[in-house]
Amino acid sequence: MKLEREDTRIRANLDGSIGESTPLFILPLAGITALTVDLTNVHSINSIGVKNWILWTLRIPNNCAVLLVNCPSMIASQANIVMGFLSKSMTIESFRAPFACESCGNESTLTLTRGKDYQYAQPGQRPSITLPADLTCPKCKSAKLAPDFFNEKTFKFLG
Ligand SMILES: [Zn+2]
Repeated sequence: MKLEREDTRIRANLDGSIGESTPLFILPLAGITALTVDLTNVHSINSIGVKNWILWTLRIPNNCAVLLVNCPSMIASQANIVMGFLSKSMTIESFRAPFACESCGNESTLTLTRGKDYQYAQPGQRPSITLPADLTCPKCKSAKLAPDFFNEKTFKFLG
């Protein structure tokens, strides 16, 4: 885990697998107002990792906002199916989602970003999803890439 600290803000870059001894879970957060967790290099999470993650969310100080960046799709799906995986102070800022070509079947992963591709519910406003359209398949260059997932399932975390 690599850490960058600026005043009361921390950026933590995780790598490898989230499991029993993930250093994030013992990172002191007293006095920290914003924690950005970059999950770019995380490739898996096991069941102990899920359990420890939930226990960790309960220890995060109330006034510390947690931003999850570049979540692999399996982390985003944990957020959707596991109760307590995301606390109220956590936001998924971006995550990687599977897309597939309608013609040649080529699979691509695209990063979807809050504020661009989706928006959390705001007071008086429902969550919104605006996926990129007109993406040409990088392989056959003749057909479109379409989402290889269901919005209702994948974006359940929007609430
Ligand atoms: Zn194609």
